[in-house]
Amino acid sequence: MSQFDVAVIGAGPGGYIAAIRAAQLGFHTVCIDAGVNKAGDAPALGGTCLNVGCIPSKALLQSSEHVHTILHDFADHGISLSEVRFDAEQMIARKDAIVTKLTGGIKYLFQKNKVESVFGRAAFAGKNGDLWQLIVDNGKGEYRSIDAKHVIIATGSVPRPLPLVEIDNINVLDNEGALNLSRVPGKLGVIGSGVIGLEMGSVWKRVGAEVTVLEAAPTFLAAADQQIAKEAFKYFTKEQGLDIQLGVKIAAINKGNNSVSVQYEHNGESKTVVFDKLIVAIGRVPNTQGLHPEAVGLALDERGFVVVDEECRTNLPNVWAIGDVVRGPMLAHKASDEGVAVAERIAGQKPHLDFNCIPWVIYTDPEIAWVGKTEEQLKAEGIAYKKGTSGFGANGRALGLGKAKGTVKVLSCAETDRVLGVHMIGPMVSELVAEAVMAMEFKASSEDIARIVHAHPTLSEVLHEAALAADKRALHG
Ligand SMILES: Cc1cc2nc3c(=O)[nH]c(=O)nc-3n(C[C@H](O)[C@H](O)[C@H](O)COP(=O)(O)OP(=O)(O)OC[C@H]3O[C@@H](n4cnc5c(N)ncnc54)[C@H](O)[C@@H]3O)c2cc1C
Repeated sequence: MSQFDVAVIGAGPGGYIAAIRAAQLGFHTVCIDAGVNKAGDAPALGGTCLNVGCIPSKALLQSSEHVHTILHDFADHGISLSEVRFDAEQMIARKDAIVTKLTGGIKYLFQKNKVESVFGRAAFAGKNGDLWQLIVDNGKGEYRSIDAKHVIIATGSVPRPLPLVEIDNINVLDNEGALNLSRVPGKLGVIGSGVIGLEMGSVWKRVGAEVTVLEAAPTFLAAADQQIAKEAFKYFTKEQGLDIQLGVKIAAINKGNNSVSVQYEHNGESKTVVFDKLIVAIGRVPNTQGLHPEAVGLALDERGFVVVDEECRTNLPNVWAIGDVVRGPMLAHKASDEGVAVAERIAGQKPHLDFNCIPWVIYTDPEIAWVGKTEEQLKAEGIAYKKGTSGFGANGRALGLGKAKGTVKVLSCAETDRVLGVHMIGPMVSELVAEAVMAMEFKASSEDIARIVHAHPTLSEVLHEAALAADKRALHG
């Protein structure tokens, strides 16, 4: 039996960051994680994000973007190549090397910060005085008992299953399988046009697959500002050839030897399409499997999320929960910031996390990013607003990059001019959104952004111009 001040369950971006911050604050900290590497033969820290999420997907997006650029954009620069070959296995190997480097980096950070790292699945066992008791099963018939004053649950999420078909990661894939295809499928089906579906669909489309995306919702990217979502839909379908069908009702999925057939209804018509591979990306669900919440009376809601308040406190004293396993957006940076905040609360500090200032990014081409409220939300909430938009079409830097498309929209309060939301589609807006987040955190007005000097020629000039437009003094509009 070992005793700790803080036991963190899960070493994804929520848990490993919480553990490091707790140790930095002087707490004797353990982080327990059940993750294993791709080969299944060694522990792997980093959770979904580093192993089968954010990092590997961005590595593949970069490789596939290079392929697309060489095939479609190089000629414009006067570059011609006599032969272009693409090796999917090498792309996957490069991705795996990045994952290994980063997951190994967490091991080093744990050692540096004196976080004890324990491999295995943790379950609540009970309480001993004011200490919570956990049992860790390492899968080899060995159990370790850990007692801790504070427990931070950071057990993340798992793919939402589709009752019609079982994931085998051979022909029917979840995110893990979609990140490990060693050959480009001829015909790829994707169920779900959320962030994961669009990113994975883009990867395999760029390297030659014919991609059909089937989405149950009638609206494309319902969480995004609809002006931006409509622009994105046009680029993805008309320019890039992704076949995105909305309002689809899947009737049946049948697996063949080397194919998957999907029967569905679309616009009142019954259709059957046979794909070489099918990715199921219909969202993610909170993961409390094996945690035994019932052993201590930990409250879960009807969807399986651990119930927490604004400050990540559960219904049990000194038991906290963060990241994908609790309410709010399933984003790595949200998980990490909640982890830091909880460690600091345990230390008696008063950190604050503004959920309205959490940025969202979709790493398609063009990228989509936003922070704050959409126009649809402002209308629904009856908030009077001003709007300024500007495009990348005439931006010198974007033209030089060969990526001169997209829009930035700044929404600010009609009365005070305080920025309420910023919505972007365009080149590298994943980076550009940081300025908007900073502006919103500092409660800036659109005039504040408009009066800040932006370097020329940069992509950030489009945000500057959109802010000028919201302040009714656009210079290039
Ligand atoms: C394909 C894909 C792409 C994504 N891209 C992005 C992106 O670009 N940007 C972004 O912000 N987000 C992205 N996400 C979402 C992001 O990965 C998650 O929001 C993030 O990983 C959540 O962090 P977490 O710490 O809450 O949980 P996780 O990362 O899921 O980590 C949970 C960890 O807990 C472990 N665990 C679970 N139960 C137990 C137990 N009982 N005992 C011990 N260990 C346990 C798991 O093994 C895992 O290691 C992506 C997700 C996917 C699937």
